[in-house]
Formats: sequence, C-alpha cells, structure tokens
Amino acid sequence: MDNSNNNIALIIGAGPSGLACAYELIEKSSIKPVIIEKLPCVGGLSRTVYKDGLGVDIGGHRLYTNDEYVKSIWFKFLKIQGEKSIDDILSKRDNIYPKNGLNPSEIDDVMLIRKRFSSIIYNSKFFPYPLKISFDTFLKLGIITSFKAGLSYFKSLIFKRKEITLEDFMINRFGEVLYSIFFKDYTKKVWGIDASKMPCEWGHQRIRKLSLLKTVLNSILSGFKFLKFKKETSLIDEFYYPKFGCSQLWGLMADYIVKKGGKIILNSEFVDFNCHDNKILSVRYKNELGNIEEIPAQYAISSIPIKDLIKGVDAPYDIKQDALNLPYRDYILVSFYLDDFKIKNNTNYKTVNNITPDCWIYIQQKEAIVARMQIMNNWSPYLVRQFDKKYLVSLEYFANEGDDFWSKTDKEIIELASSEAEKFNLFDKKDIIDSFVVRQKYAYPVYCGTYKNIDKIKNHLMRYSNLYLIGRNGQHKYNNMDEAMVCGINIARDIIENG
Ligand SMILES: Cc1cc2nc3c(=O)[nH]c(=O)nc-3n(C[C@H](O)[C@H](O)[C@H](O)COP(=O)(O)OP(=O)(O)OC[C@H]3O[C@@H](n4cnc5c(N)ncnc54)[C@H](O)[C@@H]3O)c2cc1C
Repeated sequence: MDNSNNNIALIIGAGPSGLACAYELIEKSSIKPVIIEKLPCVGGLSRTVYKDGLGVDIGGHRLYTNDEYVKSIWFKFLKIQGEKSIDDILSKRDNIYPKNGLNPSEIDDVMLIRKRFSSIIYNSKFFPYPLKISFDTFLKLGIITSFKAGLSYFKSLIFKRKEITLEDFMINRFGEVLYSIFFKDYTKKVWGIDASKMPCEWGHQRIRKLSLLKTVLNSILSGFKFLKFKKETSLIDEFYYPKFGCSQLWGLMADYIVKKGGKIILNSEFVDFNCHDNKILSVRYKNELGNIEEIPAQYAISSIPIKDLIKGVDAPYDIKQDALNLPYRDYILVSFYLDDFKIKNNTNYKTVNNITPDCWIYIQQKEAIVARMQIMNNWSPYLVRQFDKKYLVSLEYFANEGDDFWSKTDKEIIELASSEAEKFNLFDKKDIIDSFVVRQKYAYPVYCGTYKNIDKIKNHLMRYSNLYLIGRNGQHKYNNMDEAMVCGINIARDIIENG
C-alpha cells in the first residue's frame, strides 16, 4: 500500500459527478483527487462511444442547465460556437450565433448550439414532442379522440385524483385519454413497470412542473419573442452539445484534473474499504491486470450504484439484502450507419438532404419494442462520417439484465431492430452500411421494490464519517448530468469547508 500521501479524496467513478467533484477539489484545495474507474474511459453514462469515424451517446445527451457554475465549467473547456457549423452552411440555414464565439469548421474544442426538435410517432402519424395543442394535433388524433381528450383533460382539472402512483400524477396533469395515448405504454416500456405501480415521487422529481396548461402556454407564448420567460427544462428549444459528443467534454476535464495533480486510474473496479471505528482508512480496487491494490484515503466519495458499493461495506443482513436488490433499468442502443434514411423534414427548419431535424423520435406505435430513436446527424454533423451523404441513427431499447431481450446476441438484436425500423418505415435494411450494439447496465435507478428502504440503506452508509454518496446511481436518484455535477461540486465544497 502506498502511504506517501494521505491527503487524498478517493473518488469511485469518473462520470460527470466524480469528475466535477475532482475538478472542484483540485481548483479550490490542496486535497488530491484520485479517481478509480471501471471502464477504459471517463464520462460514465454520459460518454460517447466512437467507432470508425462515428459517435453515439448512451442515449443522446442534451447539455442544458440553470446552474451558472456548471455552465462556466462547460465553457471553460469548450468555447461557444460563434459561426455556422457545416450542416448550417450546406443546408443554407440562417442561424445566428454569439458574436465572440468560435468557428466549428476551424476549431475542435467548440460547444455547438443545437436546435431541439423531437417528435412522437403514434398511429403512423408524427406529433411534436412535447405535445403541442394545435389544430394539426387534433386533426391527426381525429375529431372524436380529440373531443374525448379535451373532455378528460377538463375533468382532470376539476376532479383531482389523490396522487399515490405515477399514473395518478400524469392523469391529473394530462387527463385520462392523453395519458393512455402518449404516456401509459411508453412508461411501461422505459421502466418495465406499469405507471399504476410506480410511486408518484418519480413524476414529482422529473416532470414536477410540467402541465398541459404550461405546454399550451409555452406554444402560445413562444410566438411572442419579446416576452422573455424562464422555460421548464423539458420545454427548452435549444441545447448545447460538444462538437465531438459529450465524451469530448469529459476527456478535456479529465486531462485538466490530471495536469493539475489529480490522478485517474482506468480499468479499475472498486472492491472494498478498509475501515476502523466507522472511518474509511483506505480503498481497495482490482486493477486492469486483476490484482488488488490499496490506496489510503482521507475521504471516500462514491458515484457507483449503491448495489455494487454495498458489496464492499459491512452491513447488517437486511440492509445488505435491500441494497443488493435495489432495482435498475438497463439499456441497449442499436446504431445503424445508413446510405438512406426515410424520415423527411416536415418543418420550416432547413436540413441537409431534407431529413427530419429531430434529435429524438419517440416510437409510440402500439406493437413497437423500440422506445426511441436518436438521429446523430442532428446532434453533431461532426460525429457522422460523410454526414452529407450518410446517416447515423440509433434505436433505444430498455431491458433488465438477464431478461429475454438482454440475453439475445448482438446479431439477433440488430436483426430485430432493423426489422422494426423497416416495419415503422424508418429505414430499409438494404441501406445499412454498418451496425453496432452498446449495452449499458444500471442506466436508470428505479423507485420501486427495496427502494422504499433507501433512507435506511443511506443512513447505514453515512455511519462512515468520511464516506460521501454523489450522482445518479451513487444516490439512486434519477438525475441529469448537470445535477450530477452540482452534487459532486457540493460534496467537494463540503469537504473543503468542513473537513
Ligand atoms: C439513455 C439516457 C439518456 C440521458 N440523457 C440525458 C440528457 O439528455 N441530458 C442530461 O443532462 N442527462 C442525461 N442522462 C443522465 C446522465 O447520463 C446522468 O445524469 C449522468 O451520467 C450521471 O453522472 P454520474 O457521475 O452520477 O454517474 P455515471 O455517469 O453513472 O458515472 C458513474 C461511473 O462509475 C463507474 N463505475 C461503476 N461501477 C464502478 C465500480 N465498481 N468501480 C469503479 N467505477 C465504477 C461507471 O463506469 C461510471 O463511469 C441520460 C441518461 C441515460 C441513461
């Protein structure tokens, strides 16, 4: 064991929360952050996977935050775009960018500003996402369904359900008809559980402030550009995105942390803590050769799933079992590099080859297994080799490790996904140039089952006076990148101020 420096904060996991925590410590203190990371790269769930000149996020990651400090970190590493990107130029778009920004055609470390377009395919028709209450929406839904939807919405305004489940939460905000068309099946697909069996807490945390009324107000007010109002995160129409995907940002942050004296040890998996009197003295991990190494630590900060952390911690039987049984939803991304893509543009926003400007398309066809599709050409043209002639799209599936879907081979999954793509008229199999599968365990922490005992589990972990839990799976909290970063930063500040 290396005892040379005991002013070490040992951070487990190099995702956004772990990197942000290390960044804050290195910027504001003499504490040395050492990160151990299981994967061969940084970025965690927010990483970009690269293959032969192509790049896909684990589910496209929009960068958006109301936190000015987080924003300042993003812009420290990636300066804002100031001139047109290559797809603006080729499509002859008249987008205007900030005056002092950089030219993405000439410089690599640039944060692009992208338009947020998303759609829903339902009944083979396209609806804008978030749903807009417009004549077009009513036309597509049909007069009778629209009438029923309107009635049930007004009913939900007057007769509020007691909010126990996520279903109650959504019906109170959208009415029963719109809920069953646009949310019921999708929720089941994403979470693997019926909304009527999920606690309403999920809705309060993620879509707390979103109501149909606000959605309608948003569509009306957006016509009045002079009225500046703060938008809900789920309704913003622009977002930031690194030229080469989210991993570009995490890579630059990691380089900076190392340059300033921190350490990041990749391919290394947390094993357990060496403790005395409820204090962690050192952290053991398995290195890339499979050998156990030990690092002394003044502070231990975990961003890894509680289910895995608990394996290296002493705990009474019931707490250990509850933690080991915490539920998660796993995720499979199936990417296709294509000669042709069938979804064309039905907006006024110009695009290269007139493809849809959508970043995401939610597939709400009744019989679909696929949940969503991301179109990488619209995230960053710089992530798609020959983007002016080819297309990179990924179909997103949700599964549980070991279930029928997860257990399929990559080849079977590609076959299934491409068949669904043909069925829903997204692209033809004959146009596939390349395809690849990315599997991601623990993509979503689920608020069911033993989650009801989460406070008990956390209280037990908090017995260790120098252990801190941060981030999405570290806290078993369904949060975004910026919230994960804020959490890491706050813990760093707490450590600096209070030791
Ligand atoms: C499909 C999808 C789409 C998303 N879209 C968005 C979006 O558009 N915008 C947004 O802001 N957020 C989005 N998110 C959320 C975002 O990915 C997370 O909020 C963020 O990555 C959480 O960061 P974190 O550091 O808390 O955790 P993670 O990113 O999970 O990082 C934890 C790290 O710990 C490592 N690790 C795990 N176990 C061990 C171990 N035993 N030993 C060592 N290391 C270990 C992991 O490899 C990982 O690198 C999305 C997430 C998903 C799944």
